[in-house]
Amino acid sequence: MPERETGEVGWRGASSGVDQTAVRRANLARVLDEIRRAGVASRAEIAARSRLTKATVSNLAADLLDRGLIRESGLRRDGAVGRPGRSLELDGSEITALGLEINSKYLAARGTDLAGRVVVQQRLGFDAMHASPESTIDRLAKLALDAIAELERAESGRAGSYLAGIAVAVPGLVDVPAGKVRYAPNLEWRSIPIAEALRDRLERTSAPIVVDNEANLSALAEWHCTPDPTADLVYLTGEVGIGAGLITDGRLLRGSSGFSGEIGHIPVDPEGQPCGCGRHGCLETKIGLRAVLQAAAPDLAADECDPQEQAHALLQRAENGGPQALAGLEEVGRWLGIGISVLVNLLNPDAVVLGGYLGTVAPYLVPTAMRELRARAVAGDAAACRITASTFGFTAAVRGATSIVIEEVLQNPLRIPARGAVPAAAD
Ligand SMILES: [Zn+2]
Repeated sequence: MPERETGEVGWRGASSGVDQTAVRRANLARVLDEIRRAGVASRAEIAARSRLTKATVSNLAADLLDRGLIRESGLRRDGAVGRPGRSLELDGSEITALGLEINSKYLAARGTDLAGRVVVQQRLGFDAMHASPESTIDRLAKLALDAIAELERAESGRAGSYLAGIAVAVPGLVDVPAGKVRYAPNLEWRSIPIAEALRDRLERTSAPIVVDNEANLSALAEWHCTPDPTADLVYLTGEVGIGAGLITDGRLLRGSSGFSGEIGHIPVDPEGQPCGCGRHGCLETKIGLRAVLQAAAPDLAADECDPQEQAHALLQRAENGGPQALAGLEEVGRWLGIGISVLVNLLNPDAVVLGGYLGTVAPYLVPTAMRELRARAVAGDAAACRITASTFGFTAAVRGATSIVIEEVLQNPLRIPARGAVPAAAD
């Protein structure tokens, strides 16, 4: 490597080690992507699709096999002549990803293997709004250590289970390169170095740790983990806080400092209730979980309750025709439509996906929100923008967190260490 290939990524007679590594990384990712798309494919099929020679594909496949990213399956005959070769499929059963979430009212962990198979999933009630950052991160670290032990236990038999990365979802403004929360209004956190603090507490793993905003990761869950996703979507978190994750043209829209999507803090009622951010009448004060419960089901509004249980109890009341619940949800639907009209006029998304409690009670919100949206969308044909409920419930952020670790590995297979000598090309 490299041998001259017409379709090889980045080939310019690469002379430096850096160039050669970049070329190899890109070609490994390309072969891995072909295998992932195909499900099962022979080396010849991959060569035909990727415009690499069969010899190069065999060499790259041997490398991917050695890293445990793919495995060989049944015999497959590529043509009328020659002996049949073994076909290839995605493996990654020994490569794992861990997603973590700090929420106002709970902590969560989800561990999967490279193929997305869930090995561990936990959610535990935790009042982060009234706990210090240190004790919250202590508890999160314990949850992470338990999950890592579970991930390791799941890979009995063969040595070499490898945690590829940890991603943490946080409800606030996150400086992603620094791994820091700049400001989380509902937690009252400012400048908390989460990645560093977690690294100190997770000495037993050297896996990279990234931190990102929960709405961003939830939007990426919709993009990475749903069949046939739309490339222009807005994901709305529906918890104590309201935030938006924006996917435009298949990419996360972060803004210049990474702080985009704070739709919960657009002012909709200057004379309105105080918001966690210190201002008045933000959208969050109209459609955040706390505000909704106070209007629709005040007896369920205690802070220590689990938001998922609160959401289901609220749904139950609406289904039973409870007048206060129905009136409260009607009002939320109206404000939700007002908020979505801002997003629609600004971004023209194909779909707005409701997460958290908004997803749970969506049938009672969407008709009113659509009516409001049609009246306010300047383009007029606002009906073309769908408002749907996320199917991920309160797991969207941790799903998105594991998905970014997996995507990173698929983009850069060299991140996974080789297990031994690369065997000779199989055919
Ligand atoms: Zn606010």
